[in-house]
Amino acid sequence: MNIILLGAPGAGKGTQAVRIAEKYKIPHISTGDIFRKNIKEGTLVGLKAKSYIDKGQLVPDEVVVEIVENRLKEADCKAGYLLDGFPRTLAQAEALSKITKIDAVINLDIDLKKLADRLTGRRICRDCGESYHISTYSDKACKKCGGEIYQRDDDNIATVNSRLQVYENQTKPLIEYYSSKNLLKNIDGGQDIDKVFEDIVNIL
Ligand code: ADP
Ligand code: ADP
Ligand code: ZN
Repeated sequence: MNIILLGAPGAGKGTQAVRIAEKYKIPHISTGDIFRKNIKEGTLVGLKAKSYIDKGQLVPDEVVVEIVENRLKEADCKAGYLLDGFPRTLAQAEALSKITKIDAVINLDIDLKKLADRLTGRRICRDCGESYHISTYSDKACKKCGGEIYQRDDDNIATVNSRLQVYENQTKPLIEYYSSKNLLKNIDGGQDIDKVFEDIVNIL
C-alpha cells in the first residue's frame, strides 16, 4: 500500500510513521530526514536545503520532487511505502500523481495552538528516528535503541512559528485536494500516541 501521512509540523507524523513502517513492513520515507542526512554529509542537496530549513521555509519543489522520484524507484518501495512530510505543496502533489498511485492519505488533524510546545520540546533519536518530548522523556539515550537523543536546529520558537505559517499557507490546501480525490482519512491527532496509532491501523 502506498500511503501519505499529512499533518502540520508537530502533528505526530514521525511518531506514527515509525510505528506504521514497523507494523506493515514498508519503508518510511521522510523528506525532512533525507535533507538532514544530506546536511550532515555536506552534499550539494544538503547545502541547498539548509538555508531554507534554517529559516523554516520550504525547500523548492523541484529539489524535493527529484529526491522523492529517485527514492520511489528503489526496490524496497515495490510492495508499498509511507511518505512522511511529502507532498507539502499542491505542485508537489501534482508531480507525485504523475510518478505513482497513492492508496490512502492519512491526515493527522490537530489544533495548531498545541504545536509550538510539541515542537520546541521535541527530542529525536539520531539512530532510529524515534521522537520524544522533553516533558515525558529526558534521558540522553534512546529507549528503543540506545542511540543519542538530540534537538533539531529548526525546533526553536522563531523557526517553528515560520513553519506553522508555511503550513497554513502552502500545505493545508492539500487536505481539500486529497479529499476531492476521495483519498483523505482524517484522524484526531490530539489523542494520545497509542490511540492515534490504533485509529490509523483501523483505517488501513
Ligand atoms: P511531526 O513529524 O509531525 O513533526 P513528531 O512525530 O516528531 O511530529 O511529534 C512532535 C512532538 O510531539 C514530539 O515531541 C512527539 O514526542 C510529540 N507527540 C507526537 N504525537 C503525540 C501525541 N499523540 N500526543 C502528545 N505528544 C505527541
Ligand atoms: P516537521 O517534523 O516539522 O514536519 P520535517 O522533518 O518533515 O519537519 O521537515 C523539516 C524541514 O525540511 C521543513 O521545514 C522544510 O524546510 C524541509 N522539507 C521537508 N519536506 C519538505 C517538502 N516536501 N517540501 C519542501 N521542504 C521540505
Ligand atoms: Zn533510537
